[in-house]
Parts: sequence; C-alpha cells; structure tokens
Amino acid sequence: MKKRNEILASTRSEPEALSASVQSPDEVEFAVKTLEQDVTVATANLRSRTLKEIERALARCAGGTYGVCEACGDDISPNRLKAIPWARYCLTCQELRSRN
Ligand SMILES: [Zn+2]
Repeated sequence: MKKRNEILASTRSEPEALSASVQSPDEVEFAVKTLEQDVTVATANLRSRTLKEIERALARCAGGTYGVCEACGDDISPNRLKAIPWARYCLTCQELRSRN
C-alpha cells in the first residue's frame, strides 16, 4: 500500500518534468534533454507496470487469495513475498514462466 502511494505520487509529478524538458532552443541541450526524456519514459513504463502488479496484489488481498500462486495455487513462500510483495507466482512457476 505504501509502495503504491509512492509510485502514484511520483507518477503524478511526471508530466511537469516532461513538458519542462522540451522547451530548449539549444540543439545540443535538446539532444541531451531528449535522451533524458527517453529514460524518464522508460522509468515511467516500468513504474506503471509495477503499479499494475501492486493493484492486482491489492485485489487479491480483497478477494482473500493474496500470497497464493496464480498458476499452481500453492502458497508463495513468505521470503518471496517479503522481497516482492506483489508476486503473482511461486518461485517454481515464476522460473518456469521466465524460461519459456
Ligand atoms: Zn506456483
């Protein structure tokens, strides 16, 4: 929940940072700014993906299935949940999925 609020807060400040970076007359500076913007966009994409995972985890909390692997239905190990609180799969299933 805390992580989700953090991400939401930083996502909201994003558009201002973007519009501020495009108003540069100097070409070199513009290139640098464009590069910076790419990084910002990449970070924003990653952030919204994580946010979606967190939203799903919260929905599972509400449905009483939090901490249960979506693939095999086993409990996800507490250590894994500690590292990735929004994990959808147990370690075994996650490894199988990343291999395929
Ligand atoms: Zn599993």
